[in-house]
Amino acid sequence: MSGCVKSKPKEHKMSEDKKNFETEAIRTQLERTDFLEHTSPLYLTSSFVFEDAEDMRASFTEEKERNIYSRFTNPNTTEFVDKVCKMEGAESGYAFATGMSAIFSTFAALLESGDHIVSARSIFGSTHTLFTKYLPKWNITTSYFNINKPETIESFITPKTKILYAESPTNPAIDIIDLELLGDIAKKYNLILIVDNCFATPYIQQPLKYGAHLVIHSATKLMDGQGRVLGGVTVGNADLIREIYLFARNTGPALSPFNAWTLSKSLETLHVRVDRHCENALKVAEFLEAHSLVNWVKYPFLKSHPQYEVAKKQMKLGGNIVAFEVKGGLEAGRDFLNAIKMCSLSANLGDTRTIVTHPASTTHSSLAEEDRLVVNITDGLVRVSVGLEHVDDIISDLEQALN
Ligand SMILES: *Cc1c(COP(=O)(O)O)cnc(C)c1O
Repeated sequence: MSGCVKSKPKEHKMSEDKKNFETEAIRTQLERTDFLEHTSPLYLTSSFVFEDAEDMRASFTEEKERNIYSRFTNPNTTEFVDKVCKMEGAESGYAFATGMSAIFSTFAALLESGDHIVSARSIFGSTHTLFTKYLPKWNITTSYFNINKPETIESFITPKTKILYAESPTNPAIDIIDLELLGDIAKKYNLILIVDNCFATPYIQQPLKYGAHLVIHSATKLMDGQGRVLGGVTVGNADLIREIYLFARNTGPALSPFNAWTLSKSLETLHVRVDRHCENALKVAEFLEAHSLVNWVKYPFLKSHPQYEVAKKQMKLGGNIVAFEVKGGLEAGRDFLNAIKMCSLSANLGDTRTIVTHPASTTHSSLAEEDRLVVNITDGLVRVSVGLEHVDDIISDLEQALN
């Protein structure tokens, strides 16, 4: 049993043959109730009833797949996970309260004392803290490779290594790693390859195709895309998901039915939103690249991106995040942020509203300058999460702030 378990309400009479991505995102839904509602209702219930003692026994021994208690499964979380499974091409999955609870639960469920992780150095800040501060408490250690030196990855692998971990594109420097290469290494050394696919979304990139075993998302970002709810999800190999499900069922990081219901609605429009996000982001990147007060711009679908060819191979579109460096270092970065009028200064990303951040003075200010440089965070680096406002208005705001 997993998060993809079909509870009593199940997929609505879609035929078995696979549909296109957009159709799966919209038409994967719970079976209609007697009310014949068009969209799935919200099941705000903490538990489910048993018909009799035998039903209860069979449910607890898992002879029957059904909802018992919403810490385990709930129809709304099942619907959300089913959609993500279809979109990523995954066998199974489980949904979590946040992206970080998905990441923590995945590692905690699969690793034992003594195990070792090989991870890209440029990863989400809290994931880095999990690896460096908390997992070592349980004698789980991590070695980091430089994402721009993939030829060194194998040198970090030891007999204790169990997981290979990466994000692509990375945050905030927008570096790209070749997923096919990671898949080959994982296969050669029999490692579990886990990819945080949050920046790309399944619409742009599907890591399971390249040999990843598990894909993790913070659904808080582009999946919801409207800055409303927190959520997370892990999908992939059914045996691994089963372990993760059992861990989660007993430790309680479940996604709430309300957030799952909201996220299921969000996924129905993911492809339309992401198309426009990426169209706007490419225009913003081209504008910045031509600006005299900008040192450099990193965007996967700009020809100047060092891994442009890899990006083109594995990504359908370039994503909505643009990184660039303003001339003049830390001061210039801060001044630029202070001059922004319309765009938001916020910690989120992947929202309808364009968000501008300056990592060196905010999210990554606790790192020493040399540690920031290892992950390509220079003092003047600015990250823009390009939103869905009219692109001319986004560009004018950035332009007046630069000038
Ligand atoms: C935001 C984010 C996370 C964490 O997700 P939360 O939902 O905030 O817990 C993990 N990975 C990446 C790449 C993110 O951007």
